Amino acid sequence: MKYPPIKNFIQGKFVDSISEESLNVISPIDGSHLSTVPMSEPSDLEKAVIVAAEAFKTWSKTPIKDRVQVFFRFKSLLEKNKNELANLISEENGKTPEEGLAEIEKSIELTEFACSLPQLITGELLDVSKGIECRTEHVPLGVVASIVPFNFPSMVPCWTIPNAIALGNCMIIKPSEKVPLSIGRIAELLSEAGLPEGVLSVIHGNNKIVDAICDHPNIEAVTFVGSTKVAKIVYRRATQNYKRCLALGGAKNHLLVLPDAIPEMTAKNITASMSGCAGQRCMAASAMVAIGDVDHIIDRLCVEARKMIPGGNLGAVIDKESKNRIEEYINEAEKMGAKILVDGRNTTVSGKENGTYIGATIIDFVTPDMSVAKEEVFGPVISIMRTKTLDEALAIENNNPYGNAASVFTQNGAAARYVIEHANAGMVGVNVGVPVPREPFSFGGWNESRFGVGDITGKSSIEFWTKLKKTTTKWNPQAGVNWMS
Ligand code: NAD
Repeated sequence: MKYPPIKNFIQGKFVDSISEESLNVISPIDGSHLSTVPMSEPSDLEKAVIVAAEAFKTWSKTPIKDRVQVFFRFKSLLEKNKNELANLISEENGKTPEEGLAEIEKSIELTEFACSLPQLITGELLDVSKGIECRTEHVPLGVVASIVPFNFPSMVPCWTIPNAIALGNCMIIKPSEKVPLSIGRIAELLSEAGLPEGVLSVIHGNNKIVDAICDHPNIEAVTFVGSTKVAKIVYRRATQNYKRCLALGGAKNHLLVLPDAIPEMTAKNITASMSGCAGQRCMAASAMVAIGDVDHIIDRLCVEARKMIPGGNLGAVIDKESKNRIEEYINEAEKMGAKILVDGRNTTVSGKENGTYIGATIIDFVTPDMSVAKEEVFGPVISIMRTKTLDEALAIENNNPYGNAASVFTQNGAAARYVIEHANAGMVGVNVGVPVPREPFSFGGWNESRFGVGDITGKSSIEFWTKLKKTTTKWNPQAGVNWMS
């Protein structure tokens, strides 16, 4: 085992869970045993909630200009430690070290946004009548929690930790049991940056902890990021317990390609979108809708996809179960008559035979009834569906139950405008394969990709992590003035 057993992080210290149950943490890169992760009990969570509630008394009263100083220092520490963090992310998640580094760069950008919150959080004030003023202020909620997935061990926690904490809340984070390593370093760096004890806790575990978070009477708000199946469970359970909840789910992102798209740029963008992070991004291209004759672009796409080398510029998928599931989608499509143009099945990497690799895969002549066209594959696979018109392509995109992202590739401004207007997705790209909005623009999908109101980052997060206090004040009313009029 490369690293010592993982511990929870409570009151600024790494502590053992009271549970004796643990899981092995296996690197997708080569199947090596990295560590063990405890399957904590609700009583571990209870300790974290008690210390967070205590820490909240002081943290929430600390001026926001002082609170964000922690994040200015955290940003510097992320910069200083980015290579170490990138390698750790790569080891536990299977993405390449370069992709790990890109994840840290995004975590830095998210932290920068949190540093700007004092500029954005000012309330409103108006003299509503003679001698009477009304004002609003954003007040933190209390103890809050974030439940995160395996695919971005640092970036997704940084969607919520900096903003929620800078806004005055105390947070408990439940990492994915598949990637529990780098969050420990993040907690350590936040302590080094001066975050007071108890403001952030990390409780490792599985659905038992998630259920306990949703049920806990002293946790005010919960964010979840993960699959749609679990997003629904968490959203229902947390809101049934009268909590504020925002639950982001899975995705099925469609890229619409018109014949006038620039072949090289389009092929490179689509390849990067479908195979970056081994296709394990909620913004990954999963379906390409080829409109009219775009065979020259598909040929070019195959050339680009063959440049993706498993174990080189293409990372591993998270585990054997995922690899088998993804290969099963490809097998089924082939059986139903689709044509495999580039086949990434049965991939092994020399010297890393126990790694879980799949090569970039392009499937042509996919029909909407195939599972690979309907479901989230979460691997480096793209399904090509053919249509004659843009409206037919949009109908395919509109019919999918998710709504994270959609993109169009064209040089025609009117066509692009038409897709922006008619795509049924929260994030739309024009000649962009992964249309993730950069800060300060907020991130969030629609439909079955998002349950709850608002987006998880940007200005939206101010509404989520705070409540408004409305104060009406009367000073020295002049005689004879009817202030209620
Ligand atoms: P997952 O839903 O399996 O797990 C997410 C979290 O929920 C983990 O912490 C896990 O421990 C917990 N969990 C799992 N099963 C549970 C259950 N039955 N009850 C309660 N909690 C449970 O997701 P994953 O496999 O870790 O991540 C991949 C998924 O996340 C994909 O569907 C991807 O699209 C999605 N994702 C979405 C976004 C977005 O912004 N919409 C971003 C990243 C990932």
